[in-house]
Amino acid sequence: MAQQDDVFKKIVSHAKEYGFVFPSSEIYDGLSAVYDYGQNGVELKNNIKRYWWDSMTLLHENIVGIDSAIFMHPTIWKASGHVDAFNDPLIDNRDSKKRYRADVLIEDQIAKIDDKIAKEVAKAAKRFGEAFDEAQFRATNTRVLEYQAKRDALHERFSQAMNDNNLDELRQIILDEEIVCPISGTKNWTEVRQFNLMFKTEMGSTADGAMNVYLRPETAQGIFVNYLNVQKTGRMRIPFGIAQIGKAFRNEIVARQFIFRMREFEQMEMQFFVRPGEELKWFGQWKEWRLKWHKALGMGDEKYRYHDHEKLAHYANAATDIEFRMPFGFKEVEGIHSRTNFDLSQHEKFSGKKIQYFDPELNESYTPYVIETSIGVDRMFLSVLCSAYEEEQLPGGDTRTVLHLPAPLAPVKCAVLPLVRKDGLPEKAREIVDDLKFDFATHYEEKDAIGKRYRRQDAIGTPFCITVDHQTLEDNTVTLRERDSMEQTRVNIADLHTLIHDRVSLSALLRKLK
Ligand code: ATP
Repeated sequence: MAQQDDVFKKIVSHAKEYGFVFPSSEIYDGLSAVYDYGQNGVELKNNIKRYWWDSMTLLHENIVGIDSAIFMHPTIWKASGHVDAFNDPLIDNRDSKKRYRADVLIEDQIAKIDDKIAKEVAKAAKRFGEAFDEAQFRATNTRVLEYQAKRDALHERFSQAMNDNNLDELRQIILDEEIVCPISGTKNWTEVRQFNLMFKTEMGSTADGAMNVYLRPETAQGIFVNYLNVQKTGRMRIPFGIAQIGKAFRNEIVARQFIFRMREFEQMEMQFFVRPGEELKWFGQWKEWRLKWHKALGMGDEKYRYHDHEKLAHYANAATDIEFRMPFGFKEVEGIHSRTNFDLSQHEKFSGKKIQYFDPELNESYTPYVIETSIGVDRMFLSVLCSAYEEEQLPGGDTRTVLHLPAPLAPVKCAVLPLVRKDGLPEKAREIVDDLKFDFATHYEEKDAIGKRYRRQDAIGTPFCITVDHQTLEDNTVTLRERDSMEQTRVNIADLHTLIHDRVSLSALLRKLK
């Protein structure tokens, strides 16, 4: 674990050193859980967003996009349930004065037991070798059975308390499990209280009477309240979807793990409107499509898993997370929810406007049911960064730090490097840049030795380096160096475009989703 913490720290400092992510307001000592994206970060982020957007709107003819405002009528948040129920249970440690989410403290305790079980299994697998039967071991080993029983009982009690919104019971679990504050090491806990995560501000001058408005905690409601507009003006027929990318804000109690949990972040959400009764079929379909979207990036299928929810939100009849193996464990990157007709019905009730769909095939009107896919851009960014980062040992004892970014997501696609800064090589290199830049994000770099320049491009994940040398002037060939293998091949300038395009184009990635 300590080793993983180290790796994570290195990734965070790499992200800063190479212009991916900066702490917000850094010259004023930062603002907790708020981050800025730098010159490379913004490109990577835009590429992630483009991949998602195109996969939704280009590949599905029944999905269209919108861009709704962050400010919305405050009654929307009453209707959606956020004013009354968008809460996290918080608890303070009196000695360290640190604040925690009570549910997270208990989830961490459950994860600790899971770790113990995993360790027993790993030990036995090593001992028995080939002959090891994991299922049988788990079903018969007394120590594993003891841990499992403890885990199940704790999990059951926790789920019950969460379902009942029983804050006293949550506190009691923390006491009974003897959970200590990681900072003070004591069990001196306060009561558990509910804390609403929405940021509130005022709109309008006070002379006119200001109105309290919220910064949206999710983009989804902007889609729901535009359902009728889009359905009517786009002549959409069910099933159809509306996609949106935009900022969301949550006053998170415990903001940690870099850009994993931020107070200002970005979401990519798609609401898919379906016939009542068909929602679970579509839920299953979207679960499958979304995992495929992640896996197409080629970061390793073993890094993903589904986590089906046992405790469902008040509006949902099925929910699952797609989790990614971060250096600090498997964590939610995307949520897929079957939200029933809760939101549209609520808006119908609170606005007094009829929000129905007339289904010409059934010859009846109904309130559509909704499948939602909701992914955080920043969490996706973090998963890509963590998976890409490597301190690679090279033959000869050298190491290089390289980002094996999926090529279509890389901020820079190719760098053109004149071997020396004279003899007409810079001019020739510029010619190549001037041709490639219309299709690919292309860098020109002439400073420092070539090896150093390669390493700098490796560190930001540039898939290709093109080196212009004296031979180039004679025969119009260059060396094309590939980031991951570091292989160099001599190629014709005329072939560069096709060679690069095959690897870095978003369309090749999208084709994998067919
Ligand atoms: P968590 O349980 O981690 O708080 P959540 O279940 O509340 O997340 P959702 O409301 O389902 O999250 O939001 C959908 C997606 O938005 C999440 O899967 C995540 O990628 C992203 N997200 C949510 N909260 C944050 C945050 N504070 N910072 C960054 N991304 C977030």
